[in-house]
This record gives sequence, C-alpha cells and structure tokens, in this order.
Amino acid sequence: MSRSDWDGRLVPYPSDRADAYRSSGAWSTLTTGRRLHGVAVRFPDRPAVITADATITYAELDRRTDLLAAGLAERGLRPRDPVLFQLTNRLDTVVAWYGSIKAGVIPVATLAAHRGHEIGQISRKVGAVAHFVDSSVVGLVEFARNHAVGHPTIQHVLVADEPIGADIDPGSARTLVERIDRGIDPADVVAFQLSGGTTGVPKVIPRIHAEYWNNAQLYAQRLGWDENTVVAHLIPIVHNAGISCGLHAAHSVGACLVLATPDAPSAFQLMAQSRATDVLIGHGHYQAVQSPSFEQARTHLRHVVLSGAKVSPDLFEHVQAGGVWAGQLFGMAEGMFLASPPDSPAEARQTTVGTPISVHDDIRILEPGTEDVVADGTIGELCCRGPYTIVGYFDAPDHNRTAFTSDGFYRTGDLAAISLIDGVRYVSIEGRIKDVINRGGEKINAEELEALLILHSGIASVAVVAMPDPRLGEKTCAYLVSADGERLSIEEVRDHLARLGVAKYKWPERLEWIDELPRSNVGKVDKRLLRTDIATKVTADLAVSGENYATR
Ligand code: AMP
Repeated sequence: MSRSDWDGRLVPYPSDRADAYRSSGAWSTLTTGRRLHGVAVRFPDRPAVITADATITYAELDRRTDLLAAGLAERGLRPRDPVLFQLTNRLDTVVAWYGSIKAGVIPVATLAAHRGHEIGQISRKVGAVAHFVDSSVVGLVEFARNHAVGHPTIQHVLVADEPIGADIDPGSARTLVERIDRGIDPADVVAFQLSGGTTGVPKVIPRIHAEYWNNAQLYAQRLGWDENTVVAHLIPIVHNAGISCGLHAAHSVGACLVLATPDAPSAFQLMAQSRATDVLIGHGHYQAVQSPSFEQARTHLRHVVLSGAKVSPDLFEHVQAGGVWAGQLFGMAEGMFLASPPDSPAEARQTTVGTPISVHDDIRILEPGTEDVVADGTIGELCCRGPYTIVGYFDAPDHNRTAFTSDGFYRTGDLAAISLIDGVRYVSIEGRIKDVINRGGEKINAEELEALLILHSGIASVAVVAMPDPRLGEKTCAYLVSADGERLSIEEVRDHLARLGVAKYKWPERLEWIDELPRSNVGKVDKRLLRTDIATKVTADLAVSGENYATR
C-alpha cells in the first residue's frame, strides 16, 4: 500500500516542523522494529520481560517477534494493515505487539473489555484486517469470530498464544523482517491508539515510527533509566501509558519490564520477586500502595511515579517512606508527557506533574475557548505542540478543526496552571473541560453513554457524571428522567447496554431518578450541580460505611 491509500485521512506534520524534528534528532530515521532489534543486539542476554509465568531475554524476544512477523506475512498480512489488539498483560501480548510492528502491520490499541459497540465502530473506522485476541479472557475468541462474520475488512482472527510462525527458520524470518523494514517510512503509522477524551465516538490517534519510541525513551531518560533498571507495570499494557511508560520506555534503554496485572497483591509480590526498581502507579492503585501488601515491593524500589489524579500529601509521604523517590506524570495517548524532574524539590513533585519531557515541547495555558494565554497561577486549558504530540486525529476532519489552535497547539481538554517553584515553571493539573469519567484510568465518554441510554424507551432524558470512588477515583452515575413514571432498575439499564454491546466498564454504577434535569439559562444541562449533588450523597454514604478519601 502507498501512503495515499489513507485517502487524506491521516494529517501529516507540517513539513517545516517535521524537517526541524528530523534535523534536531527529536525524530528518528529508524523504524520501531529496527530500534528494538538494535537494543536486542546490544543486550542479548539481559532479561527483556518478566511475567508471573515466564522470563524472556532480549535475544529471545527479538527471535520470537521475527518469527511472529514472518508468520503474519505468511498468512497474508501486509504493511499498513490495521490489526485490532484485544490483549491483556501477558508475554504473548508483548510478542504480538512487536511481531506485528516488525511485519509493518498496525496494532490498534483497543481494550480487552471492549465489545461489539466499540469494536464495531473502531474496526470499521480503521479498516481492520485482523483481530488479535487473548484466549485467557472468557468469551473473547468467540466474540472476535462472531464479529468477523460479514465484516467488510476483517480476514483473520488471531489468538495470541497460537504459535504463529513458530515453524519458520529464524534466519529466514530475520531476512524477511529486514526486507519489510526497508519498505517502511519512519513517517508511517506504527500504532493507532484510542482517545479517551473527545466527544461522541472514540477518536483514533495515529502514532508514527519517527516519534513513538522516542516519546518513551524521553520518559525513560527523564527518570534516569538504563539497562539495570527493572520497570514494573500493572495497568493495561496496550494502553498508551503501558506502551510508552512500560514496554517501549523499558526497552528503549535495555531495561527489564516486569509485566504484572492490575491485581495489586499479586503485582506487588511479583515486583518483590523480580526486584523492581521503578513503577508507574495509576490512580486506580493509589489506595493499594497504602495497603500492607505494598511493603514487600519496596525493598528494591527507587522511583514511584503517580499518575491520573491529584496526589495528596499523605499519599506522597507514604510512597516516599524508606527513601523512595516519588514523582508524577501527566500523559495522554495524543502525545504530551509532563513528568517530575528527578532533582525537583519535594514540593514540586507532590503538587505538580512536572515539566515537559522534550526540549522541543511547547505548552500554553489558554483561557478555554480562546487563544489567549492566561497568567501564571491562573487555571486555563493545557494546550501543547511538539515532536510527539499529534497534529490530527485519524479520519476526523470536523473534530480536528476545533481540537487545535490556529497555530497547531493541541487542546487537551484538561485544566492546568503554572506554578513557579524555585524559579522553575511546573504544571499542575486542576480538572478538565472534556466531559469524561476517569474510572481508574479507563475513560468513559459521557456524551457517548448518554446517547446509548436514551435509546431505552423508559428514559426521557439523561445526564451522566462522575461520582467519587475511594478505589477507582471516579465511577459513573446516571441522572435519569423517566419517560412513563416507572423507574428502571439498574439491572434493566445494564441489560439494555449489554444488548447494545457496550463494554461493561461503561455501565452506570448508580442511578439517580429526578423529575427534570437542571439546566442553565441557555438550556444546557448543569452537570456541575449534578456532580456536587452526587459527591455529597456518596460522601454521606461513605461516612455511614466508615470509608473515606483520606487514603486516596
Ligand atoms: P489517556 O489518553 O487514556 O492516557 O488519558 C489521558 C488523560 O488522562 C489526560 O488528558 C487527563 O485527563 C488524564 N490524566 C493523565 N495524567 C493525569 C494526571 N497526572 N492528573 C490528572 N489527570 C491526568
């Protein structure tokens, strides 16, 4: 396929910026497959990945991913073929990721939890040719097979633990991978990530070879990682945070990735056994790091990076106990990473998410809806531009018109402010404009869920808002107005969403029936009022049950 096959659905970086990034080295001239191979040649015998079940060296990872790439090519997959990834935190997932990339095919980072509603939309949007699934998730293989029936583009359902390409001679596989690699332009898409934070249907984020591995390497360098670092990762690895802070970041410097699962006690045990030195903790695990089971993981820990929600002084102090360095990260699949510099003072590491990780990053805090920069200390919308931040969503021309400023700064939808500490300008995250619920890191788009709920004949109107949750940070609450005076049960609402094929993590966890949705004088639903209302109710409920947020 040639680049024109994307039919203008891919927005290229402006040529002056692309040239500048190439000549400064901010962009790589090598593909991602070649970069992994280069590290594997340098550190062949060092461990590349440790899971609860297996350990694999760099040489073995390189060999297995060559074989998988050759096996995919043998099955007829071609460079630029998008492949849906619905895989969990297992070694097979790592092999599938790099093997696909070496074959030139493009992983589409969906979630194992997605179902017909999401997968149907995304697979059609990108023209997915194959669907990689994990046989350890009950029903997923069957789901993928059913989904492929009559699908306009899907030709292959691939099960990650099948030995694809295992019978190919490793030397021939390497030769083939080298040949495929010569045909890949570093400006080509390496992976499609999904946006958590835009309106309506999920938007597809194209990441390119030239920048994606570098984004991860910059993060690794910010934390001072090298081949002796042992990086643990608990949250879904195929997410952008997993790829950029776990997989690619560890491998960009020859470090070892300890691939754990979101189950905190077993993850902490694996971290202790494998002597993990560094870990990213998403806000879904803020409570878990304050539990006794975290203590075993501390022994070899040097750095803990907290991400996804505000960090309380208690949490920060708790993590730092025993000499561990605690810092923060703001990251998004669209690109922009801000992280605490290692030598920044504790105050900056506790109250801010740090500074951009690339010297080529540009950030502005703008008055929402305008292009006016606000004064330091004032809250506004975080907007950014740089070598690894997207210049356009895939096939979304209308949305792209409003998602960027006139000079190409991406509007994140997050609220932020600049704090000056010891003369350094740090960024703090102060909320968001975008209408999403951040359920332990999984983003739920309120508008999308409202459009699905309103399809039920018993619902006249609906507004979906985040309600606080001690463990996940936020959960979904639906405020509903009945169509006929009857109140549906939560089971009936969930059955409705199940029938529509909506992923379970999006199903509301609480319903509040009201006579009318509160509206502003221009007729817009007043979600701020609803958020305050539900927060008050949840806090009262928690007071009765004895739980609180002190541990968040
Ligand atoms: P994703 O693209 O799924 O990684 O989600 C990115 C979004 O997560 C951001 O736009 C923010 O809304 C949120 N986020 C990420 N890091 C932080 C953080 N440190 N503090 C608050 N929100 C965050």
